[in-house]
Amino acid sequence: MMDHCVMEKSAVRTVDNRLSASPATILELDRIALLLDIDGTLVELAPTPRDVIVPPQLGPTLQALYERLDGALALVSGRGLTDIDVMFAPLQLPAVGGHGAEMRLSAESEAVAARAPPMDNDLKRRFISIAKLDPGILYEDKGYSVALHYRLAPQCERAIYEAVSAVRADLPQASIDVLPGKFVCEIKHAGVSKATGVRELMNCAPFKGRTPLFIGDDVTDESVFAIMPSFHGGSFSVGRRAHGVDGYFANPNDVRAWLTHLLDEEAMVR
Ligand SMILES: [Mg+2]
Repeated sequence: MMDHCVMEKSAVRTVDNRLSASPATILELDRIALLLDIDGTLVELAPTPRDVIVPPQLGPTLQALYERLDGALALVSGRGLTDIDVMFAPLQLPAVGGHGAEMRLSAESEAVAARAPPMDNDLKRRFISIAKLDPGILYEDKGYSVALHYRLAPQCERAIYEAVSAVRADLPQASIDVLPGKFVCEIKHAGVSKATGVRELMNCAPFKGRTPLFIGDDVTDESVFAIMPSFHGGSFSVGRRAHGVDGYFANPNDVRAWLTHLLDEEAMVR
């Protein structure tokens, strides 16, 4: 698995904490697909999702990799596709958005396929009321899911999860999942996930038949880590060594350096 891509020696560590055993000079960009989470993976986390800064070189790097991979590069995020497109404008990439609720299989396609209905407004109102527990709690409506960010009010974590549990107990028929993240509690439809989106993506050209490499940093990415073996793919976490991954990066800066390195290596062998 590790031979299928170049491992930047300073950036990625294998699960047993060795630096990649060899420089792994076998470059097979014709055979891999890159699947990339955004927040905490490609870009550093910020106090609120709107404060995230996209480094200027990231867009051109993703564009170049997208072209080199013949389109087999996708963003996989809890953010909705509109939000993703605003972040990376003018670049538009294939993407799984809203934790699998939205799909765009091809960058050329304007079509966004919905895999779940928007969240019920009555349900949303219940979560809005939880945000009123403290001014530091930020409610984010992602359309298909909602998020309660408490990076500015970490002392409220327990109260938030207790209130969310109370909503679930009150509405047992609501088919929702609660995803604990880094200072964020996300609530989404139970029927979709990043993994269902990635499975669908991997069944379509140009992803189908390629070896997927997924990079993600958070609990919400674990469903994708879990299915990578079924595609003979590799999974990499960021900031920590997550369970079952093939390697990990220290931070988003190292992920970006590694992506740039893939292109550098490509230039060298051409
Ligand atoms: Mg993330």
